[in-house]
Order: sequence, then structure tokens, then C-alpha cells
Amino acid sequence: MTRDEWETLLDEGPGDAATRLVYADWLDEQGASAQAAFQRWLGRAGKYPCRCSGGWHWFSVAHASRHAELPRELHDAMRVWTRFLRYDSRAAAESDLFAAWRRARLGP
Ligand SMILES: [Zn+2]
Repeated sequence: MTRDEWETLLDEGPGDAATRLVYADWLDEQGASAQAAFQRWLGRAGKYPCRCSGGWHWFSVAHASRHAELPRELHDAMRVWTRFLRYDSRAAAESDLFAAWRRARLGP
């Protein structure tokens, strides 16, 4: 598997936590331990961005898709924050959250 192939799998099934956990093991094998830990966190927390209204979103407020609501410590670590953040792709949404997750020191 290549990283692009993993990313395609997650685009097709962003809520598939089992895929994220296997992807995390693969990332560890590539030496990407922080990204691996982040994928495990997403999988265990059951978080992934919501695809609606023509984009992918994270929410700071209650939303029909609970999996896209972020905990407070991550709200506070995002670069900008409003009621929601919109991205053109799932990968972009997760990449931005990864940076916040590291700033919030939620990883190992
Ligand atoms: Zn939504």
C-alpha cells in the first residue's frame, strides 16, 4: 500500500476506525510515528470530518454528525475557530486537525 492508497481508502470510508488503526501501524513502519498516533487517536475517539454542504467540516458546536464535533482542547488549538471550519478535502481537514492536535499536546 502507498500513502495515496490509504488516503483513498479513508476518503471512501472516513468513519472506518479499523482502517485507521491498520493505517497507523503502516505509518509507524514508515517512521511517521506522530501521524500514526494521530490516526489512532481519531480511530479511538471516533472523530472524522463531516462531508456536507459541499465540503468537509469540523464543528465547535452541536452538529448532526457527532463525529465531527471536536473537544474543547482542540477548538482552542486550531489556528482560527468559528462555529465550523470548512475544507476542500478530508485530508486537508485532518491535516489541519493534526497540527492542532500536536499544539494541544494530545499525542505521546
Ligand atoms: Zn455535516
